[in-house]
Amino acid sequence: MLNIILLGPPGAGKGTQAARLQATRGMIQLSTGDMLREARASGSPIGEKVKAIMDAGELVSDAIVTALIGERLDTCADRGSIFDGFPRTIAQAEALDHLLKQRGETLDSVVVMEVDDDALVERIAGRFACAYCGEGYHDLYKLPKVNGVCDRCGSAGFVRRKDDNEDVVRARLKAYHAQTEPLIDYYRRQGKVSTVDGMADISAVAKEIDQALTGQGAKGVKNRAKTPG
Ligand SMILES: [Zn+2]
Repeated sequence: MLNIILLGPPGAGKGTQAARLQATRGMIQLSTGDMLREARASGSPIGEKVKAIMDAGELVSDAIVTALIGERLDTCADRGSIFDGFPRTIAQAEALDHLLKQRGETLDSVVVMEVDDDALVERIAGRFACAYCGEGYHDLYKLPKVNGVCDRCGSAGFVRRKDDNEDVVRARLKAYHAQTEPLIDYYRRQGKVSTVDGMADISAVAKEIDQALTGQGAKGVKNRAKTPG
């Protein structure tokens, strides 16, 4: 079974690709944000702990997040996992390596969805939608055929998400690069990094990811053959 990490900034399309891998390969997406929310709502002993920490406005420790991931991996049985949002630091990466090793598993591949920052800003900051039917539009790529009128429902009201503006997207990208670059180096030293062009269209990215996962498998075998013991 395959354990992979998807790395990419918000807006790179990680969620879309993770959903596809779940659908086509039966893999399980382990999104730390979702896991914390679920744990919190579950009322389990660890969930109660998470709730208390989050209610106090504090950060949930790596130890707890790692324990949650361990619990979740128990339910993944042979389906493979996609880590999303974890690890974010070298310490977390080491904790994940340790956790997988304890379970007799390995991390197979780290797929980095590379983006062009300026293009991503343009892609995200230009988004808006019909306030009534939700039809999506874009300042540059998809304007309504009649200015100010929704193609689909004819209404004249449009909305933009507050976060979809240049300042917010640039700040997120900056945080992502600062946080992620060391992780990429960490995994590169383990020979596990594949990069794909996150700016390509969804099906092209999907194809690249599949190739990366296949290539990684083959490379793993080759590496094992080269280093006996
Ligand atoms: Zn509409």
